[in-house]
Amino acid sequence: MHQLRWHAILKQWIVFNTDRQNRPQMPANWCPFDPGSGKVPDHYDVHLYANDFPGFSPSADPFSPNESSGLFDSTGPRGACDVVLYSPEHTLPPSKLSLESWRKVIDLWTSRTQFHSENPDIAMVAIFENCGEAVGVTMPHPHGQIYAMPFVSPIVEKELESASEHAGACLFCDLLNEELKQGTRVIAENAAFAAFVPYAARFPAEVSLYSRRHVRTLLELTDEEKTALAELISIVRRKYDNLYGFLLPLMMAVKQAPLKQPEALYHFHIQFLPLQRSVNKLKYLAPIETAFGTFLADTAPEEMAEVLRGCEPSTV
Ligand SMILES: [Zn+2]
Ligand SMILES: [Zn+2]
Repeated sequence: MHQLRWHAILKQWIVFNTDRQNRPQMPANWCPFDPGSGKVPDHYDVHLYANDFPGFSPSADPFSPNESSGLFDSTGPRGACDVVLYSPEHTLPPSKLSLESWRKVIDLWTSRTQFHSENPDIAMVAIFENCGEAVGVTMPHPHGQIYAMPFVSPIVEKELESASEHAGACLFCDLLNEELKQGTRVIAENAAFAAFVPYAARFPAEVSLYSRRHVRTLLELTDEEKTALAELISIVRRKYDNLYGFLLPLMMAVKQAPLKQPEALYHFHIQFLPLQRSVNKLKYLAPIETAFGTFLADTAPEEMAEVLRGCEPSTV
């Protein structure tokens, strides 16, 4: 079964691909992402690899939901899911990627966003990374993912709604300016980007990275800005590894405006959502968070920001 089913109560699509259950066990000591595996070029810096068990796929039925949505609606998950290999080196953690490599990763994110923006089937491009065994990553090879989706995801819908209801020019720009003015939650910055622990962070050591300039997607970033983005991603990732002295398991989400809504108010940013609560405790989502959607946090964002600001490499 490969389809989208409508969750009539939460008003969102759930993606089903039951083939994913039958993913083969990979032989030990063999990695499809390594040069020489036969699955990737023998030489590469960064490489785009089509997901073998995609949630969204170009060959799936088109996304054409019923206008009058019923209780049990379904439609096709046409889209694309690709894996971005950050490096040919199997054991290199993403936090140890060179600036040059991060820049190449950003260029690949950008060219894929451009590619999908020309496809009428695609509504948004979601770029993300799961890093560390604690967040369920079985594959150590440094990689992230790009989902090209036929609809705008519910959280981005919510963000667009908040931005459209905001009285100022851009909700995100206003938040960033206020963060920079207060300064207590800023952890690193450069000429084009700033990273801060959000005022109402939901995850321990959560960090948002905003472009200083009002840009909506990767496609609007200049060359210098992309290099500055590579630098700040690298700084945040290395700070995280110095927080508790080991590679911090985390989720990274690169968020940009929907592709086909030129009037929609949005602001390009990256969210880092680490799941480590303390040196030896992981944060597991509780029913109040998963079933009710209310997050409980046990660290003051200002205190976490002070610690992260002090972690090497330090820029502010
Ligand atoms: Zn590998
Ligand atoms: Zn803005």
